[in-house]
Amino acid sequence: MPNPSAGRNALVILDAETVQAALTLVQEIERLGGRVLHVHPPRVLIGNVPPEVEDQVKALANVRSLHRKRIELSEVASLGPEAIRAVRAWNRGFSAALRALKSGRPGEGKSWGAPGYAAEGPVQPPPGVEARGRDAASVEAGPGGADDTSAYLIGKVAVNLILVEGEAPSYTFTAMEQDTVVAEVQDGLGWLASVEPKANVTWFYEVRRVRVDADPSRDPAFSEDTWRDAAMAELGYPASWAGLEQFVRDRRTALGTDWSFAIFVTRFPLWHFAYAFKPRVVLGFDMDGWGIDDMDRVTAHEACHIFGAADEYAESKCDCRERFGFLQVENGNCELCAPTHVPCIMSHNTWAMCDYTRAHLGWRDSNGDGIFDPLDRHPVVRRPWWIELLDRLRAWLGLSPARGL
Ligand SMILES: [Zn+2]
Repeated sequence: MPNPSAGRNALVILDAETVQAALTLVQEIERLGGRVLHVHPPRVLIGNVPPEVEDQVKALANVRSLHRKRIELSEVASLGPEAIRAVRAWNRGFSAALRALKSGRPGEGKSWGAPGYAAEGPVQPPPGVEARGRDAASVEAGPGGADDTSAYLIGKVAVNLILVEGEAPSYTFTAMEQDTVVAEVQDGLGWLASVEPKANVTWFYEVRRVRVDADPSRDPAFSEDTWRDAAMAELGYPASWAGLEQFVRDRRTALGTDWSFAIFVTRFPLWHFAYAFKPRVVLGFDMDGWGIDDMDRVTAHEACHIFGAADEYAESKCDCRERFGFLQVENGNCELCAPTHVPCIMSHNTWAMCDYTRAHLGWRDSNGDGIFDPLDRHPVVRRPWWIELLDRLRAWLGLSPARGL
């Protein structure tokens, strides 16, 4: 999958007032053979509409227009800020300057732990938050389901993008910077969804901009908790990690998605330029030595963590025997121990994904019946016990890649 524009050739503007109406259109377009990757409720859908069904899509109730090229902002000015933001992000994809920038990334193909570059953060709970064991032993997808808001990456996902600003000008964003963030996040997540069409991933975006009364220069105890808690309070939630979890669950219910997570973007000083622990990703806007044009891949990497995938670059001190994700699969593409390491978004700044990461995300179909294991009642193919034992022994001795894919 070479670039994030893959699988995306149409923007559809709806005459919808609610997310439910938008959701109905997603289903109707997909029934006709289209594929919706991004929803900016309630009026904008972005995805792939094959030319042969274009007329049928245009004829659907509540479809106002379908676009394949750059859109004049004046055309959408009356449709609200969500639509304008979505169209700006869409238009950006047609810029030759951007394409040149993206094809000449200084960090192209580098390990996320490359010397001379800022380190991405390990997946660990913030202070005072308890790490949970296996991702939701009993999980039901869908609104009101289990507490786990991102057990595996199959289905609809609410993306709560929150730009957190301080009062000082150095901690704020311009409108253009906000657009850049939305576009980069959408590009990264669009790529992730298009890696596996069978997972039917659709991202539902809500973008918020929150200004908090926090200033690291006045507060010696300043940390992520300081601004994140203040941001949750601004959004009407308890100023705590529990408040964040509640917010993420509530947005899942409100948008009717299977899953939900938050992406905080800020200019406040951070522990690492990017890190994740369910249910939130934190991104430093300046990407600390990488570039803003790498925010798409960094977002894809961190979103993979949210859905259970592990780091694979050597500096993360990964271990091939450690198990991850809903399916509890070994981290067999870890650079430190894989017999043959292959490039992957979890190890390098590249548009590639290895089979282990796919399995961590839940994209494994053990019995080949077309249903991914997390949704399959009978996923396991029975094998003689002694073959299982032999395989495990070989994996343990490092003689062959660990099984589990
Ligand atoms: Zn990572």
